[in-house]
Amino acid sequence: MTADPRTFSFEFFPPKTQAGERTLWHALRRVEALRPDFVSITYGAGGSSRDRTIALTRRIAAETTLRPVAHLTAVGHSIAELRQIIGQYADAGIRDVLALRGDPPGDPLGPWTPHPHGFTHAHELVELIRSLGDFTIGVAAFPERHPRSPDWESEIRHFVAKCRAGADYAITQMFFHAEDYLRLRDRVAAAGCDTPIIPEIMPATDVRQISRFAELSGASFPEELAHRLEAVRDRPGEGHRIGVEHATALAARLLAEGAPGLHYITLNKSTATTEIHRNVLGSAADRALRREEGTLADSRRV
Ligand code: FAD
Repeated sequence: MTADPRTFSFEFFPPKTQAGERTLWHALRRVEALRPDFVSITYGAGGSSRDRTIALTRRIAAETTLRPVAHLTAVGHSIAELRQIIGQYADAGIRDVLALRGDPPGDPLGPWTPHPHGFTHAHELVELIRSLGDFTIGVAAFPERHPRSPDWESEIRHFVAKCRAGADYAITQMFFHAEDYLRLRDRVAAAGCDTPIIPEIMPATDVRQISRFAELSGASFPEELAHRLEAVRDRPGEGHRIGVEHATALAARLLAEGAPGLHYITLNKSTATTEIHRNVLGSAADRALRREEGTLADSRRV
């Protein structure tokens, strides 16, 4: 943790192979040196990947100085199973959960079928976790609207209800235009909700990978950035430079506009995100902002 009033965090996923495990731990150790506020571990669609999330989250808590946040979804789980998982985390001293509804396995936009003894929406999972003890709970936010929401009015109404069910903060879906985040934040504030919304930063260094992610998440990808990345498709070093430059500019703008922190998607590789983080915190404008806002430390800490 640092004296900075904002929250900086990094997201990882549980790897499938031993080589993936080595890459992950290398990245985790590099990120640990930056003393982030937390790292989060995503939750898969089922079976062994879910066990790997639980095992990895527990190992990070036991073997590092990092504070792990466990993502948890309602997909395919009965309420009894969800209680058991939350209990396992509590036993391991983990008190941070990102509570998510999740998507239907296989086809994220396919019909949602709740478990017969489970939940339909994230606010129910938030309520369950809140009822089980002293947890810090995060939820998801969508700067370009959740793909299933028919309009902004229902999007904001449901988001605010999820916050009021007991969320301490929200993390956004990836996005590439600062205005989308700012509009969401203003709409939520206009609805009387002051839950901090932390923007997610995804470095776009590889045009093939990012187009797939953007398609899956519904995020609109800037054409100009796509063209620049396309032009250097076979020069990964150049793609890296362009992606870091774009994400640094986005992150710096968001912080200048008062975003309460940044959540970096690492894809288990730390190079681009740690570079962006250093760029952002090292800029003269940011140092001035931190001096100005130092007194807000307690009120804004997630
Ligand atoms: P909800 O809040 O339930 O919202 C889903 C839809 O239902 C929205 O359209 C909402 O407006 C609507 N809605 C909400 N409440 C009601 C209601 N009472 N009545 C009618 N409609 C309602 N997925 C994973 O599988 N694993 C992960 O680890 C993971 N991590 C994520 C991390 C972040 C930061 C984000 C932004 C998303 C993550 N996701 C993950 C994806 C997420 O599970 C999906 O985007 C999912 O479709 C929405 O989850 P939610 O928690 O926002 O659901």
